[in-house]
Parts: sequence; structure tokens; C-alpha cells
Amino acid sequence: MRLCPQCGSAGKNNGTILNEYPLLNCRQCGFVFADLSQEQSINANFNYSCPSMTVYEQSQTYLDDLWFESVAKKLSLRTGKGRVLDIGCGNGLLLSKFKKLGWDCYGLDVSDWSEYYAKKYDFTLFKNEIEANEIPAGFFDLAVSTSTLEHLFDPKEHLMSIINVLKPGGTLYIAGVPNFNSVSVRLGVSKFHYNKPPAHANYFTPESIYNLIKRMKKFHKLKYIKINTYGVPESFLVYDTFKNSWRKNKKSSIADKKSKIYTPIAANTKIISNYNNRLFGFVKAISSLLVNINYFLGRLFYLGDKIETIIIKDSQL
Ligand SMILES: [Zn+2]
Repeated sequence: MRLCPQCGSAGKNNGTILNEYPLLNCRQCGFVFADLSQEQSINANFNYSCPSMTVYEQSQTYLDDLWFESVAKKLSLRTGKGRVLDIGCGNGLLLSKFKKLGWDCYGLDVSDWSEYYAKKYDFTLFKNEIEANEIPAGFFDLAVSTSTLEHLFDPKEHLMSIINVLKPGGTLYIAGVPNFNSVSVRLGVSKFHYNKPPAHANYFTPESIYNLIKRMKKFHKLKYIKINTYGVPESFLVYDTFKNSWRKNKKSSIADKKSKIYTPIAANTKIISNYNNRLFGFVKAISSLLVNINYFLGRLFYLGDKIETIIIKDSQL
């Protein structure tokens, strides 16, 4: 049985089984985590040739594009420009937004196809995991980690390594972590779409993410921690329903049929360039407004869909 990734204590089955994996509650700190092996977690998350990864990569939506643009702008206003690292940068979409705003951009991703995007958006790529500690300590003004912590067998070590590469006074922004305390989970109506083991191994709440960061204080001085939730739970299902019905109505050509078996690189390039062509003027303004309304509604009472965290490293070492 997997031990608690926060405090190392044993867990107890809480009655929830997702995708045949039981969820455990830590007997010591209460953290909720999936009972899986490190091997199962690695196979699900780091096997880039497997079809599920291809599907995941092709599922980047045009809402992600708008969301990343607002994240890059928001963080630029908060911290000023400098050197940014995106951990798990994937297809480089978020870094492309920072690049436009004048940041010196670095990405970290172990997949081979990330090299293509590093060239395309002109950022420096580290191909090792952050835990390998190959990046010089105190190198970055800002590190961003989106939709990552929930995947990791050992989130504690991961977070420690990220804070290590920040300059004194540097900022870490974490987002996209599913909230196990969202209103839909609390009401028992969540179907945990895109949020199941073995890809997801940890089920954070604002409180447990705060506890995880507090553990970092043994190793690093932190002066500011802010945690929000955002997004209306299950709202992406509405978007998916519209998208799928639009696709069904569209006459599918032979080229479209072929696109379903493209490699991740080809498919993603196609998707992103389509969004950029489509996103202009009025349509973009309305879509951005809806993305922002959805974001702020999910901030109420810490019951939103995802958790967002900002940490600032102390300028005194
Ligand atoms: Zn624990």
C-alpha cells in the first residue's frame, strides 16, 4: 500500500474507487492520495508513445490558449519581466505567451516532442526532470507549474527542487491542480473526468496544498503564500459538449479523418494555428470575458474546480 506522499504515514481506504484504484486518507495528516505503485504512476505519466498521452496532448483547447495568455499577463504585472521556467512545458503554449511579453524563456520537459516546440517558440529546453537538480540554484525570477502536482508520486521532492532554482525573492506559480474540496466533489456529483488514477496520484485541497508548502519551510525560507480556487466545477463539460456537437455537424473530410492518427506534433501545430486564426476581435474579447467570469466564480468559498497558489521565496537567505 502506498504511503502518504506528504508525511510518510499509512493511509486508510476512504471508500472511493476511481478507475479501479482506491483513494486513501492519510491516518496522520488526512491527505487524500491514490493507492498505486511508483511504476504504475511512471508508466501512466512518462510513457510518451502511449495513445492516452497522444490523446491528452491533442486535447489542448482554445480556452487553454486564452487562459495561458491571461496567466502570463497577470504574472508579468505582479513580478515584472525576467527569466521564467515552465515545468512540464509540453507544447510550449504558455511559454509562447511569456515570450510575446518579453520574458527570457526556459522550459523543462522530458518528452522528445517538446524539442520541436522549443525551436518553434525559441525557448531553452531542459530535458531532465527538475528532481535531477541540474539547473543552477537561484537562477529564475519566476517558475510556473500547471497541472503537474496531481500527477507526481513524490510531490514534496518536486516542489523542493523547484523552489531551489528560484532566486531569493523569486515567485512560484502553481495552477491547474484539481480541487478535491470543490462543490461538485463535496456534493458527491463529480465524475472525476480527466482526474483519475493512474495518471493522477494526489487529490489536493487548498488546505493540503498549504500543508505541503509549509513542509518546504524546513528547507527554504518563504515569505508569502497565497492560495485560491478558481473555475466553476464541471464547466469544461459544457465546453466539451458544444465542441463535440460542432464537430459532429461539420462535414468530415478525408484530411480530418487522417488528422485523428497524426503524431502529437503535427496535430498540435494544426490545432494551435487554427485557434490563432480564429481568435480575433470580438470573438476573442467575448471568450476572454467568459474565461474570466468562470475563473472568478470558482474563487468563492474555496469551492472552485482547480487550485492556484503563489509562493514568494524570501529575499533573505
Ligand atoms: Zn500524511
